[in-house]
Amino acid sequence: MTETVESHTATVTGGGDQPQLLIGGRWVDPHSSETLEVFSPATGERVGSVPHADATDVDTAVGAARAAFDSGVWSSTPPAQRADIIAKVADLIDERGDEITALVSAEMGAPPSAIATLQQLPGTGVLRAYANAARDYQWEEYRTGLFGTTRITREPVGVVGAICAWNVPLFITCNKMGAALAAGCSVVLKPAPETPLTGNYVAQLFIEAGVPAEAISVVTGGTETGQALVAHPDVDKITFTGSTAAGKAIGAACAETLKRCSLELGGKSAAIVLDDVDIAANAFMLTFLGLFNTGQACVAQTRILVPRSRQDEIVAAMVEAAKAMKVGLPSDPEAQLGPLITEKQRQKVEEYIELGKKAGATPVLESERPAGLDSGHFLTPTIFTGVTNDMAIAQEEIFGPVLSVIAYDDVDEAIAIANDSDYGLAGTVWTNDVERGIEISTKIRTGTFGINWYAIDPESPFGGYKNSGIGRENGREGLESFLEHKSTMLPMGYEVSSN
Ligand code: NAD
Repeated sequence: MTETVESHTATVTGGGDQPQLLIGGRWVDPHSSETLEVFSPATGERVGSVPHADATDVDTAVGAARAAFDSGVWSSTPPAQRADIIAKVADLIDERGDEITALVSAEMGAPPSAIATLQQLPGTGVLRAYANAARDYQWEEYRTGLFGTTRITREPVGVVGAICAWNVPLFITCNKMGAALAAGCSVVLKPAPETPLTGNYVAQLFIEAGVPAEAISVVTGGTETGQALVAHPDVDKITFTGSTAAGKAIGAACAETLKRCSLELGGKSAAIVLDDVDIAANAFMLTFLGLFNTGQACVAQTRILVPRSRQDEIVAAMVEAAKAMKVGLPSDPEAQLGPLITEKQRQKVEEYIELGKKAGATPVLESERPAGLDSGHFLTPTIFTGVTNDMAIAQEEIFGPVLSVIAYDDVDEAIAIANDSDYGLAGTVWTNDVERGIEISTKIRTGTFGINWYAIDPESPFGGYKNSGIGRENGREGLESFLEHKSTMLPMGYEVSSN
């Protein structure tokens, strides 16, 4: 292996060909001779390339992370100092917002304005939230028990493998690296194969902000790269965001080495619209929350449960709102929705639309491949009515701009439909009566919920029930998931100094 960067001060680079791997903060030649090519889903243009790391590369990265962790260079840095550095990453991202959103946009196709609001804002938000959590956290306490006094400390879990999805890469990378590093862990990041350059970029920002370079490595690659990371005996914890199928495989593989793992997986969230809703005031947000990121969002509200008595009026307002959302190229300043990530994904979404029609649902608005946007995998939204909750379009995560409207007759029925899902990530209720909304929130089996809107709050726990995952990210709970508790029994009669 050849090291070409001697200094630990990594330079921040954007797109283009990056033939080396960032291992322990140094750019080194990979063992693997395979590369991973990145093409824009919007324009088809080649964005760049990175190495497709193999198991030997993963072993090298984990070795570097282990050595960094065991040396204490970061794990022993006082939490308040770690917090200042994590907060500085957020400042750097804000300073370079245009450059970063352009890179993310090049890789995953969404308009830069959407990336600024849906990824940069929450991404910097979680970094600042983890910094706050690390500053406020009770890292040490003394507890009196049966045998006297125990000193209880929280220690970083160790070497973390962070495996990411492509759909909101800036947010996910900030979230995983921010939490693990605030806790004092070393990180081996495995970005999604669709968005590896964003992973490399963000990792370098952590080093620039002051995280010792040894504590950070990035293994760009695909499934096999992730599998090698999950199987590695020197990785203490896997934090994963991606599909439920991959999450189940990763959870099972982690059990082999009894690794800790947290899983942020898919969703099929229900928006319960109550009969007292002011639809004129809420139609845009209701529709947007199902279609943002072109429906490629784990928390997308894609099952819209409407009171039968007001169905026509609500659907008409949603169709109008969906038609007004401009699908376009990243270069179009008015574009709100970008392309689907791949041609295969566009075809999969179109197959679901056919499946919905065959099952008897009616597309009151039907997707088209928009004229003039032939360079990318663009698809305008579909809104189905006449959907029943047993249809595939109501049960399966489509990950595209397809909304299923399901009519209900009374609120208990709506709650039952919302809960009749393998997933449990998010949900919403739409009503003029906030107290009624809160009451309904207590009956829905999901990890997050919103009344008349939805957002992932950086300070509040985020994660799923059921097949939507295990564990929580964000805020204090997100930090805690990278900590172990240690109990040290003090000698009987030992007086703890109050200083
Ligand atoms: P994916 O599961 O195909 O891949 C995610 C990542 O895991 C990639 O980096 C991939 O290379 C890696 N990977 C895949 N199989 C693996 C295995 N067996 N072992 C180790 N690594 C493996 O998912 P995707 O298509 O990139 O992302 C879309 C999915 O992510 C959707 O289901 C979406 O709902 C989910 N998601 C969830 C959240 C959340 O916070 N709950 C957020 C964003 C996306």
